[in-house]
Amino acid sequence: LTTKKAENVVGWAKNHYLSTCDLPSVKSDRLNLPRESLEIAIMRLTEQELISKKPAQNLKNLAKDEYESNFISAVVPPGEIGIKFDDIGALEDVKTALHELAILPMKRPELFSRGNLLRPCKGILLFGPPGTGKTLLAKALATEAGANFISITGSTLTSKWFGDAEKLTKALFSFASKLAPVIVFVDEVDSLLGARGGGFEHEATRRMRNEFMAAWDGLRSKDSQRILILGATNRPFDLDDAVIRRLPRRIYVDLPDADNRLKILKIFLAQENVAPGFDIRALANATEGYSGSDLKNLCIAAAYRPVQQLLDEEKKGKKHDTTPAAALRALNLDDFIQSKAKVGPSVAYDATSMNELRKWNEQYGEGG
Ligand code: ADP
Repeated sequence: LTTKKAENVVGWAKNHYLSTCDLPSVKSDRLNLPRESLEIAIMRLTEQELISKKPAQNLKNLAKDEYESNFISAVVPPGEIGIKFDDIGALEDVKTALHELAILPMKRPELFSRGNLLRPCKGILLFGPPGTGKTLLAKALATEAGANFISITGSTLTSKWFGDAEKLTKALFSFASKLAPVIVFVDEVDSLLGARGGGFEHEATRRMRNEFMAAWDGLRSKDSQRILILGATNRPFDLDDAVIRRLPRRIYVDLPDADNRLKILKIFLAQENVAPGFDIRALANATEGYSGSDLKNLCIAAAYRPVQQLLDEEKKGKKHDTTPAAALRALNLDDFIQSKAKVGPSVAYDATSMNELRKWNEQYGEGG
């Protein structure tokens, strides 16, 4: 083995290995590694290359029992997520915060291993109105950090295996630790870990919650394990103190203002055929209260109008000189104005909920 190759293998393995690849001596004296370690590294490297081609097969091999197997379909390797930070409009401050809190510690763990001040953060909460890009951010974060992504909701742990929720929760954490670096995304974290609940489900739910907290605490005490619990919620005020404490960084993902709507619209319309002089700024100004998701729905509705028009013309017997796709007229501002009547801002998020969110942000959150 040449020095260069050894360096490459070790560097690669450190960045990418699953925790099954517990390379014995890959720590300090990288170049004086015993030969066996490097051989293991190379073997694992090959394994990993295979893994990246056949992730499902690999995950099957990693799962210890049927409880762990239950999460196989929830795992997405970083190369398959398909969303990057650049695909998300606006939210620059949130992206910067996530870079510092999650991407760096995952990509450069060696910079966070000394002293007590810079400990990798094990719990981050994204909160804000629905459709503002929280799920999108979580996925992009996994891509950017080169981490596996597991998405769970309350029903992942409770519905199918009701009664076994506790074991399933334990299995989630043990499986996740084999996938490190990994981001465990808990969507609607309030429904999984919130203080609500009751009725006959109460006891099982309570035990599952306790197990979740215990496993999470176990993980917080191990700095080397690159596992991040990333929660998202529209209802942070339903979380109790025990959960809030475990999510020390709470980032507000707010509705976009006009400038930010402009940035989001630019992403959605980048590939579209828009009429010359199309005033995208006017559109951004006219969509007060729209979330990123609402804007997307508005753009879809608007983009449908030229298609509808062409279909109507065909019905009347009009023949095209070109292919139908080329005959579609460009989108204009009026398409959006007309579509606004159908696709308004989400009514689910009224002023009262927004107020509650802002208040919670002032008390517990950062940014926004
Ligand atoms: P949340 O998890 O906050 O409810 P999502 O991340 O699921 O919202 O967003 C729903 C959809 O809205 C996304 O799939 C995306 O198409 C669009 N979207 C929302 N916010 C943005 C944004 N800032 N940039 C680009 N697309 C966005």
